[in-house]
Amino acid sequence: MEFMKCLKAVKEMAAIPKHNPDLLIAQYKAFTFQMPLMYVILMINTWGVAATHMHVAPRWMTIDIPVVMTVISAVRAIGWLRCSKQEATRDVALKALSRTQRLSGILALAFTLWALALFPYGDAYEKAHVAFYMAITVIGVIFCMMHLRPAAFTVAFIVNGSFVIFFSLSENLVFVAIAINTALVSAAMLAILLVHYRDFTGMVNARVENFRLANIDSLTGLANRRAFFSYLDKAYAKAKSDGTRLAVGIIDLDGFKPINDIYGHATGDKLLQTIGTRLGNVCPANYYVARLGGDEFSIVASNFGDTGELVATGELICSAIRTAASLGDITLQIGGSIGFSVYPDMASDTVQLFANADYALYHGKRAGRGKVTLFSIDHDAKIRSDAKIEQALQHANLEDELTVVFQPIVDVSSRTTIGFEALARWFSPTLSSISPTQFIPVAERTGMILAITLTLLKKALAHALLWPDHIRLSFNLSAHDLSSPENVLDIITEIRRSGFNPARLDLEITETAFIRDFSQVRSATETLRSLGCGISLDDFGTGFSSLTHLHALPLTKIKVDRSFVTDLNKNPASYKIVKSLLALSRDMGLDCIVEGVETRDELAILQTLGDLTVQGYLYSKPISADEVVGFLEQPATVA
Ligand code: C2E
Ligand code: CA
Ligand code: CA
Repeated sequence: MEFMKCLKAVKEMAAIPKHNPDLLIAQYKAFTFQMPLMYVILMINTWGVAATHMHVAPRWMTIDIPVVMTVISAVRAIGWLRCSKQEATRDVALKALSRTQRLSGILALAFTLWALALFPYGDAYEKAHVAFYMAITVIGVIFCMMHLRPAAFTVAFIVNGSFVIFFSLSENLVFVAIAINTALVSAAMLAILLVHYRDFTGMVNARVENFRLANIDSLTGLANRRAFFSYLDKAYAKAKSDGTRLAVGIIDLDGFKPINDIYGHATGDKLLQTIGTRLGNVCPANYYVARLGGDEFSIVASNFGDTGELVATGELICSAIRTAASLGDITLQIGGSIGFSVYPDMASDTVQLFANADYALYHGKRAGRGKVTLFSIDHDAKIRSDAKIEQALQHANLEDELTVVFQPIVDVSSRTTIGFEALARWFSPTLSSISPTQFIPVAERTGMILAITLTLLKKALAHALLWPDHIRLSFNLSAHDLSSPENVLDIITEIRRSGFNPARLDLEITETAFIRDFSQVRSATETLRSLGCGISLDDFGTGFSSLTHLHALPLTKIKVDRSFVTDLNKNPASYKIVKSLLALSRDMGLDCIVEGVETRDELAILQTLGDLTVQGYLYSKPISADEVVGFLEQPATVA
C-alpha cells in the first residue's frame, strides 16, 4: 500500500503537469528566462575546464567536443529566447517542456562523460578542476531547472550518480569526499526544489483562481462584463488576422424590472440564474456567453456559418428565455430580445460591434419585443441621419422652428369634437420638415427634450386658450419629461403661466416612461393629477404593462394604439384585442380613445363594440391652429 503510494508520488513527480495548462504555461514562461541562463553557465564552465586541459589532453577533447557542445547549447538558448517573444499556449508549453525533459538526460550524460573522460589527464590541480566543474555545474543546472521537477531530478541523478561511482573507484579520499559532499548538497537542493515547486504550483493555482473569480459573474456563474470585453478583444484580433467573421449579440430581458419590483430581488436573482443556465445550455460551443450586469447578457460568436445561423441561434435563445420558469411556488414568464452585429459586414472594430449590437437591440425592441434584430444597412443609415438631426437640433431656434398642429378627438355617436391632440412639427432651415417620430427620440437621447416639450406646451396652451371652454387639449409628454421632480416643476410652471384650466388638459404618457423608474413616474403623474390634469396612457397595448402598474398610476384615459386598428377587419386577433382593451378600460373606469381610425370599415366594426371616442384620418388629419375654430363650427363628419 505504502509502496504504491510512493510509486504514485514518484510517477507524479516525473510527469509534466499536462492537465494543468496554467501551471504548464507558468513553468514555460519561467524557463524562457532560466534556460538561456543555464546554457551560458554550462558553456562558461565547460570552456573553463577545456582551457586548463588544453596542454595536457588531446585537441579533440578540449576543442572539438566543446565546440560541438557550444553550438548545440547556443541553438537551444536562442530557441528559448525566441520563445519568450511568442504567445504562450498550452500546446506550445507542453511541446517545449517535453523536449527539455528529453534533452536534459542526454545532455547531462554527454557533459558528464566528457568531464570524466578528461579526468585521467593532468595533475592533481587539473583533476580537482574537473571535480569542481562537475560539482558546481550540477548545482547551477538544478537551480535553473527548478520549475521542471523531472528534468532537475534526471540531471541530479545522472551527474551525481556517475560522480560518486567514478570518484569512489578512484580511491582518492579527497575526491570521494568531494563527490559525497556534492551529492549531499544536490540532495538538499532537490529537497528545497520540491518545497519551492509546491509553493510555485500553489501560487500559480491561486492566481488562476483569483483570475477566475475576477472574471466570473457570481450570480449566474457566467463570464462577467470584464471577461466579456477581454474575450471580445481577443476574438476580434483573431477574426481580423484569420479573415473570419465575428458577431456580438446583446440580450435584454423584456419586463424584468417589474418582476424585481413586484416579487422582490431574491426572486429576480433566481430568475436571472435560471436564464443564465438556459443561455449556457442553448448556445453552441463557439458562442461565448456573459452577463454584463442587471438583466443584460451578451454573446460573442466566432466561426459561425452565416447570418442565417446567427439569427436561428438568436431565436433559440429567445424561446429559451420565454419558457416559463418555476421558482419555488411561483411560475414566471418573461421575454428577451437580441441585437446582433457582425464584423466585418457592419462594424469595423470592437467598439462599433458592441455599439451596433446595442443599437440593433434598441431598435428591435421598439418594433416589437422578443425578437432577434441584426444590425443592417438601414440602421447604419438611420444612425447617420440621426446624427444630422442632432446637429440641426443643437443649432435650432426652437421658438421659431417648432410649431404644433392639432388632431380632433371625436365622439362617434354624437359626432362632436371633444378635444384636440397637439402634435409637434419641426421645420429646420437645413433639413426642412422633420417628423416628430424622428426628432423626438434624438432629443430624448441627447437631453434636449425638456426644452422642446416646454416650447411646444407653451404654444399649444396659447392656442387652446382661444378655444371654447368644453374643448379639451391633449399633449404628449416624453418619458424624460417625468424623470425628475425638477422637470415636472418646469411643466407645472408652464401650465400655470398659460392661464389654461388644467382640468381641460390631458397629458399623454407612454409605457416606456415607467419601464425605467416606476416610482418616480408615479409621483410625477400624481403631482400633475393633483393639479387637475388628466393622465392618458398612450399607445396602449404595444408594450409591457402589467395591470398592477395600470392600477398604481392615477390614469384617467387609455389610448388604444393604431396598430390594432389597422387591418381590424382582416385580422381577428386585432379585433379581440381592441374588444378586450375597451372592456378593460370600462372595468377600470377609464375613458378610452381608439387611435388611427382610417376607414369607414374600421369604424363600422368598432361601433359594434359600443360607444366610442376616436381619433384618426377618417375624421381629420392633424390641422393647423388657424383651422381649429373653423373645424369646430361643423359637425364631425367622416372623410
Ligand atoms: P402619437 O402620440 O401616437 O400621435 C399620433 C400619431 O399618429 C400622429 O403622428 C398622428 O398624425 C398619427 N395619426 C393620427 N391618426 C392617424 C391615422 O388615421 N392614420 C395614420 N397612419 N396616422 C395617424 P405624428 O404627428 O407624426 O406623431 C408621431 C409621434 O410623435 C406621436 O405619436 C408621438 O409619439 C410623437 N409626438 C408628436 N408630437 C409630440 C410632442 O409634442 N411631444 C412628444 N413627446 N411626442 C410627440
Ligand atoms: Ca399621443
Ligand atoms: Ca398614440
